[in-house]
Amino acid sequence: MSLVYIISAPSGSGKSTLVNELRKLVRDLVFSISYTTRPPRGSEQNGREYFFISRPEFEAMIRSGDFLEYAEVFGNYYGTARSFLVEAERKGYDLLLDIDVQGAEQIKRKIPEAVSIFILPPDRKTLEWRLKNRSLDGEDVIRRRLATASREIENYPKYDYILVNDRLEESTEALRAIVLSERLRHSGAKLSEDEIKLSEMAGRFRLDKVQERVRPIVASFAKPMAQGEH
Ligand code: ADP
Ligand code: 5GP
Repeated sequence: MSLVYIISAPSGSGKSTLVNELRKLVRDLVFSISYTTRPPRGSEQNGREYFFISRPEFEAMIRSGDFLEYAEVFGNYYGTARSFLVEAERKGYDLLLDIDVQGAEQIKRKIPEAVSIFILPPDRKTLEWRLKNRSLDGEDVIRRRLATASREIENYPKYDYILVNDRLEESTEALRAIVLSERLRHSGAKLSEDEIKLSEMAGRFRLDKVQERVRPIVASFAKPMAQGEH
């Protein structure tokens, strides 16, 4: 049985960056490429970041039952094709999904043993800075993403692991530890000393261990919104 990892984060937290780093470090992991009705951004290519399809095409896929989950995010459809899980199982690989909170809930209902990870930015100012610095979105979109982030962040208690993406290298190591230790846990094998250390490291990012760290981050998003945010 393939393990399913779910990664969610407010836009701009560094999820794509972290997932790209993870790709270099962990073998036997299939990265699901979602279908979306939003247009490509920057240098995005069809079939690489997403499969970019029209609304009627997406709705036809919904009717055919092609999606493991799908949701509407920022006014566009996004969905995970069932075929990616089938492919992962065929290869004996695990599957990694980069999806939003609504998608994560749908997957957890269907696959309760799925491992969910929520990535948080260090605080609101840093998120705003990263979004601006990324230079992919206009002012309006950035304002909308920040307002959405404030709501999305409240969902962190629904996840198994919480990762604050402050220093990239440390966050990458933590993400690797989570993925590998869950693999070990599900294998039921006796752990070596190194594997025990890895599991202990991963354990530090479990929901019940991060409350103190997360409280000020959530608070930084709770302050009154700037003009134009809804
Ligand atoms: P997301 O996929 O969550 O929308 P990105 O991976 O595109 O976010 O990251 C947003 C911006 O923040 C990018 O410019 C990226 O290079 C930068 N970034 C990501 N992680 C870090 C980090 N740990 N420290 C500083 N900058 C980061
Ligand atoms: P973006 O437009 O910035 O690439 O993604 C916007 C949001 O859609 C992100 O939160 C991302 O995780 C989410 N998303 C991407 N693919 C999927 C998917 O297949 N299903 C769901 N539910 N959300 C997705």
